[in-house]
Amino acid sequence: MTGDGRPRSDLPEVDAFTRTYWDAAAEGLLLIRRCRAPGCGRAHHYPREFCPHCWSEDVTWEPSRGRATLYTWSVVHRNDLPPFDARVPYVAAVVDLAEGPRMMTEVVRCPERDLRIGMELRVAFREAAEGLAVPVFEPG
Ligand SMILES: [Zn+2]
Repeated sequence: MTGDGRPRSDLPEVDAFTRTYWDAAAEGLLLIRRCRAPGCGRAHHYPREFCPHCWSEDVTWEPSRGRATLYTWSVVHRNDLPPFDARVPYVAAVVDLAEGPRMMTEVVRCPERDLRIGMELRVAFREAAEGLAVPVFEPG
């Protein structure tokens, strides 16, 4: 809940499967999923229990290096859902992780005029709630 009692829209649902991911995030580590099927071996994000490329269920957790490049972004000036309403303007972004997966996130600590397609980013974490950190990206 936000300070004024309205429900928040930014908190993920943590279930038995994604618990590993969120526990790592709280420690400052971004996890991705890596397929171990012969001939595939691709990484993906967000975490799924099977590989979205070949449907194999032989998929494991792997720490990401936390490096990415900016694919595209949109500066959000209006969002009525808490807590985003208190955070505008913010930079909603899609980034390409060094390991391959494309990820929806937010770019922080970067003025809008400095945003460039392909710019180098590194993961940072924002504490969204007690014990819950969400990955964002900053220049670096
Ligand atoms: Zn696969």
